[in-house]
Amino acid sequence: MRSIVTGGAGFIGSHLVDYLVSAGDDVIVIDSLISGDLNSIQDHLDSKRITLVSADLLSDLWQEHLFGADRVYHLAADPDVRESSVSPDKQLNNTIIATHRVLEAMRKASVPEIVFTSTSTVYGEASIIPTPESYTPMEPVSVYGASKLACEALISAYCHSFSMRSWIFRFANIIGARSGHGVITDFIRKLKANPHELEILGDGKQTKSYLEVRECIRAIMFVVHHTQDPVNTYNIGSEDWISVTEIADLLCQEMGLSPKYRYTGGSRGWVGDVPKMQLDISRLKSLGFIPEISSRESVRIAVKSALE
Ligand code: NAD
Repeated sequence: MRSIVTGGAGFIGSHLVDYLVSAGDDVIVIDSLISGDLNSIQDHLDSKRITLVSADLLSDLWQEHLFGADRVYHLAADPDVRESSVSPDKQLNNTIIATHRVLEAMRKASVPEIVFTSTSTVYGEASIIPTPESYTPMEPVSVYGASKLACEALISAYCHSFSMRSWIFRFANIIGARSGHGVITDFIRKLKANPHELEILGDGKQTKSYLEVRECIRAIMFVVHHTQDPVNTYNIGSEDWISVTEIADLLCQEMGLSPKYRYTGGSRGWVGDVPKMQLDISRLKSLGFIPEISSRESVRIAVKSALE
């Protein structure tokens, strides 16, 4: 297959590229490198197993590469939920406008399939936890969540209007090697600056589901290989959750530190945060997927690789 991966130099994208290369795909990565890291895919570039198109999706420097492609994995986005409330314009451009541009380029180049990385934040502050894909009303509480929900709607419309097929994945928190953002990265940075005190956003009781990135890729590819509807929407996460304070405990234990915790207070860490998040993955399991890693185990693996 010829596969396009937007955001392929990013955290999740680079693991997806590893998978696609090992599956024998002809891979083209389109990435502006705004937050991606070339080191993550350097081995594949050196061995000429992939082609890199260094371009912003908001420019017109990449569309020609879609001709002849079988599938687009569209991961490029600004994944910072916190920042989305500070700079909504940036979020709308990088998510909604960029996704519309990808869909238009696919339509013109007759690329029939798209895999899209959405998020648990499309559910907002859900009253049903674990939250199933059928949950309503979808009332996102962050600009990031709203932007992703708009992308899902656009993708659905393009699939039904132009005979395309899509897989939409609503992720829990994805963590692991090469991640440059999120709670573990934040805590390590703070502890390196001051090993005696750790600032924890909120009251530390925010409890969420986490999944190790390679397990996330395994779930994505499992669904892609087992479903064929025009629009296939699946939650991806683990079946348990862990609190922010427990993550801090685990990390400090691994670093051999006993800092004093200083909570900023309140039940959420930032505007657009939710105190509790866990996704119902029954739909994923009904396809025959057997989850192998818990939230706690995912955090343990991510902490170890971040410290290495
Ligand atoms: P990341 O920041 O590591 O990767 C994003 C990549 O996209 C980067 O390489 C960046 O350079 C590139 N990019 C951003 N804007 C671009 C643009 N306009 N044109 C071209 N390239 C651009 O983020 P990630 O954590 O790997 O997230 C990947 C996807 O998964 C995103 O769509 C994100 O919203 C989604 N997601 C991530 C999580 C998570 O926990 N990490 C959870 C839910 C959803």
